[in-house]
Amino acid sequence: MPKITHYINGGRYTGNPSGTVDVHDPATGESVGKVLLASVSDVNAAVDSASHAFSSWSTTSLARRAKAMYEFRNLLLENQDSLVNTITREHGKVLEDARGELTRGLENVEYACGIAEVLKGSFSESVSTRIDVKSIRQPLGVVAGITPFNFPAMVPLWMIPNAVACGNTFVLKPSEKDPTPSLILAQLFTEAGFPPGVLNVLQGDKLAVDSLLTHPEVKAVSFVGSTPVARYIATTATTHGKRVQALGGAKNHMVVLPDADLDLAADAAVSAAYGSAGERCMAISVAVAIEPIADALVSRIKDRIEDITVGPGTGTDSTMGPLITREHRDRVADYVRQGEEAGAKVIIDGRSSQVDPRGYFLGPTLIDHVTPDMSVYRDEIFGPVLVVVRVSNYETALQLIRDNQWGNGAALFTQSGAAARRFELQADAGMIGINVPVPVPVGSHSFGGWKNSLFGDTTMYGPEGVRFYTKAKVVTSRWPETESGGLQLNFPTNA
Ligand code: NAD
Repeated sequence: MPKITHYINGGRYTGNPSGTVDVHDPATGESVGKVLLASVSDVNAAVDSASHAFSSWSTTSLARRAKAMYEFRNLLLENQDSLVNTITREHGKVLEDARGELTRGLENVEYACGIAEVLKGSFSESVSTRIDVKSIRQPLGVVAGITPFNFPAMVPLWMIPNAVACGNTFVLKPSEKDPTPSLILAQLFTEAGFPPGVLNVLQGDKLAVDSLLTHPEVKAVSFVGSTPVARYIATTATTHGKRVQALGGAKNHMVVLPDADLDLAADAAVSAAYGSAGERCMAISVAVAIEPIADALVSRIKDRIEDITVGPGTGTDSTMGPLITREHRDRVADYVRQGEEAGAKVIIDGRSSQVDPRGYFLGPTLIDHVTPDMSVYRDEIFGPVLVVVRVSNYETALQLIRDNQWGNGAALFTQSGAAARRFELQADAGMIGINVPVPVPVGSHSFGGWKNSLFGDTTMYGPEGVRFYTKAKVVTSRWPETESGGLQLNFPTNA
């Protein structure tokens, strides 16, 4: 059984693990490797390596940093098949979806290639007599990233490129459920010319995370995962004096107005609800149908679900793969039972899907006549379950979004520019889609939700990512021509 190691100081690292856990292929249930779980001494080794690398990396020119980043981009493209196959083997998503994840991750690498432009700072000449002021941004030091299972390549790439391009060094703690893609990223990083210690990968569980959160050398923590853990990370890291951005769970609503193109809306709902088996923080999990179109929308969604082929991610005709673990599959199936018992109508029941029983499969599920008090509406299910809530007007739909504990994404389907504009301004979520069901911003903007979808002040990647990974400094300088100017004990004013 292959041992899945850490990657510290430019090479694979075994250290003194506190234990190991099996990594499974979700399509077959077979173990594909054993991942090491870091002990405190392993965490210290990773942080020491990053800390040691920081002094020279932070003073390396922007030109050299950008060159290595550009080389990393090329290597990612050259090695994409290996990455895509590894993602599918450990996560289960279909190959094309894994390729899409990588493509979206690459956007952040490409943004970081332009770091010289992004970090230009600002300068004011002669703000006062013979006095100039410049504002610059400097790196923080060692920064840590803790990432979820659902995007084992893309989410690390939301963090690492900007952090490193800004001059920081990085310790990544990926999900222990699909840990190998991060090792490939680290290997390619080294091949691209980044010095040892600039990127370290630490495999592990809560012990590793807690040690990072309390380590005095770690200056900032980026986290993506479930809401309870995000809240815990934000509280603990802040208490230990670190900068934090902790992105949590979601329940994304797609509101369909009566004037919408219902075929477009149904295509979008099905793609956004069942892509990656619903294991996306930007998946659409609630369709809010504004009457009188609910029957027409549900019937179109139902027709399209019948075209989905559930199977192993490597299958040539599979369009939806398995869930990440057997426990998670059973938990999602239990939500369907709860919805049924609460009086909702199960239109398509994924529990009856017939695929390899060794794998963690659940078919796409559509539940209609759901009300906000039901657990299928209240909770984040994180599986291939789309619930339909029928409402009589736009205000009620908007209120559902406002009352929801999460605020990651929200989408509106309409043909009215005025309605779209109203929704953009009124919807209580951080990322809005207009006739776009999964409005994940491109790498030159920034990603993050509101309410329980984000703890901390700064969203991730793009310009906000650069702000998160740098601290501001303002330099005020005077170069007198001749005389000293004399003493001045009053508070300085400008003249
Ligand atoms: P998770 O919270 O279980 O795990 C995320 C990371 O935290 C992993 O590295 C894990 O090892 C670590 N972890 C887990 N429990 C911990 C604990 N008690 N203490 C310290 N560390 C702990 O999340 P997951 O199941 O891997 O991912 C799915 C969740 O991530 C969903 O809720 C999804 O919505 C969310 N997610 C959010 C976004 C976003 O951008 N908002 C993006 C992707 C995923």
